[in-house]
Amino acid sequence: MDPIGIFGGTFDPIHYGHLRTAFELLEMLSLTEMRFLPNGDPPHRDGAIADAQHRLGMVGAAIAGQPGFVLDDREVYRAGPSYSVDTLSDMRAEFPARSLCLMVGMDAFLGLPRWYQWQQVLQLAHVVVAHRPGWQAPDAGALGELLRERGTDKIDDLHHARAGSIYVHAVTQLEISSTALRDLICSGGDPRFLIPDPVRAYITEHNCYPVEKSGCK
Ligand code: ATP
Repeated sequence: MDPIGIFGGTFDPIHYGHLRTAFELLEMLSLTEMRFLPNGDPPHRDGAIADAQHRLGMVGAAIAGQPGFVLDDREVYRAGPSYSVDTLSDMRAEFPARSLCLMVGMDAFLGLPRWYQWQQVLQLAHVVVAHRPGWQAPDAGALGELLRERGTDKIDDLHHARAGSIYVHAVTQLEISSTALRDLICSGGDPRFLIPDPVRAYITEHNCYPVEKSGCK
């Protein structure tokens, strides 16, 4: 079913933590592609600092030439908040026969019951939970029950059904965050070796995180 990985985020800016996770999941789960979806108007956090066009530009610069990595701009061009369920409905309509695999971190997964229309998510897609080595998945409460019902350790399940399973997978953790990067750049620091060189060049060229801009956090 040519599974599509869906990696959403603010990507303000994209960094090697995002890219390494996406790459490991693409390879380990034998996904056909990994789509990066910068969000437009994030519902769960304060507004992004760099505007959506620049966040798209930075992701494009980061993934250029990497087989299997695809930039998907649908959330940026949709009006209103970027809810996962709306994005997944849209993708389901575009790719009716393909497996959709929504990538989430363990933190996001723990908050799943607070997502807008979260029960529909598993009707539209599989959920792949990326966690740091050694982390335990919940075994109690609503999420523990959900994992007992929907959890799988078989990659094949992501290839043989379009939606409905939860797959939990450890990935290498790089302690890089966009927040720390913005702070670094806004205070005049150099993000070299934390982000790809083309992203660094893009930030410099477009002055995405000006040193003088207040509230750069
Ligand atoms: P911020 O610091 O602005 O909150 P962030 O670095 O967490 O940003 P996002 O764009 O919000 O970046 O993250 C997109 C996705 O990437 C989320 O699912 C998040 O859990 C994951 N992610 C963020 N940082 C890392 C990292 N260092 N390693 C692996 N995954 C990451």
